[in-house]
Amino acid sequence: MSDVRPEDEVVRICQELIQIDTSNFGDGSGPGERKAAEYTAGLISEVGLDVEVFESAPGRASVVTRLEGEDPSASALIVHGHLDVVPALKEQWSVDPFGGELKDGLIWGRGAVDMKDMDAMILSVLRNFARTGRKPRRDIIFAFFADEEAGGTFGARYAVDHRPELFDGATEAISEVGGFSATIGGQRTYLLQTAEKGLNWLRLVAHGRAGHGSQISTDNAVTRLAAAVARIGAYDWPIELTPTTRQFLDGVSELTGVEFDPEDPDKLLKELGTVARFVGATLQNTTNPTLLRGGYKHNVIPESAEALIDCRTLPGQEQHVLEIVKELAGAGVEISSVHNDVSLEVPFAGNLVDSMIDALHAEDPGAKVLPYTLSGGTDNKSLSRLGITGYGFAPLMLPAELDFTGMFHGVDERVPADSLKFGARVLNRLISNY
Ligand SMILES: [Zn+2]
Repeated sequence: MSDVRPEDEVVRICQELIQIDTSNFGDGSGPGERKAAEYTAGLISEVGLDVEVFESAPGRASVVTRLEGEDPSASALIVHGHLDVVPALKEQWSVDPFGGELKDGLIWGRGAVDMKDMDAMILSVLRNFARTGRKPRRDIIFAFFADEEAGGTFGARYAVDHRPELFDGATEAISEVGGFSATIGGQRTYLLQTAEKGLNWLRLVAHGRAGHGSQISTDNAVTRLAAAVARIGAYDWPIELTPTTRQFLDGVSELTGVEFDPEDPDKLLKELGTVARFVGATLQNTTNPTLLRGGYKHNVIPESAEALIDCRTLPGQEQHVLEIVKELAGAGVEISSVHNDVSLEVPFAGNLVDSMIDALHAEDPGAKVLPYTLSGGTDNKSLSRLGITGYGFAPLMLPAELDFTGMFHGVDERVPADSLKFGARVLNRLISNY
């Protein structure tokens, strides 16, 4: 039994996780993560490790276990994943999204990319450590959270607020949306995530004088709101480079021989192929109107009207963006934040970064590694509140033609089985050597 290598069981575990539907609709109506958490905890206790399953609300379960390291003075590393997935519309898929089918060398299903692939890699590696009795140098805390796809309120956020002792001694973390390869200028390049944009979901409410739709109205809430929304939506946010995006673009220039021109960013971005869409939004702030609501009858001017704006902010620019949105909204429009989360940016340097690069090079000699910014967010935002520095590192060596980044939350999510085995080997090396 002890000679089961991570790559021997990572594919099966990924398939079985996909087969447990953990759709997160964001309103508590989904199946929850309890079943997946029990499956995960079962795999951990089977190899003799203590494991804890805890719920933030009925059915919303997360899993944590700690593998003790040899050096009690070394800080702990958190290796985490999330158990939930975004919903899938069966009729749009060419396979059953919860079938976990292995077809033509690929594992298909919701979560194959985001992020039951990495969950399986983590589980296969920790099971190998337990079976062989090996000890990492430092404590490794393995966590599998609920609710990442709805901001982590019932998962990582809850754990940080209510169970911070689970992460005692930890200073760094690795998780999703980074470490995968893209082919840039013909060179396989791994994108290591060292920054995340912040988010601020704003609600705008405009007020005016209610009245009959046949009268002259100079104080119409719908008119006021519509004008505010149009100004915010059409605002031309300038391109601004952070240390991470500067390093990323410099690296891409070097690989392709194409210079970055802030007046024409697409010139360099198109060298990135399918990854261009993924990183394009990390060069500027965005403020997208996403919902309008107001009124109840064709001939009644309502007293108020409401809009929602999805703001995504570059590292350190949360306050700046809010001020500009307030200015654009103008007088008579109230602005409140419905949900917000911090931006993150850490240096592409240090022992952990070096160890991640070394682990990749050991399995893919000569590969290029670049830091990049994620336009969305991960549970690393929650962990950052405990002073923990997070990276996106779910290593996958991918075929050049696969539009991997386009499959996050997409239809027909799939990941090559060989990529998963590669990732398990890289992760195993990283945890063994760091
Ligand atoms: Zn995810």
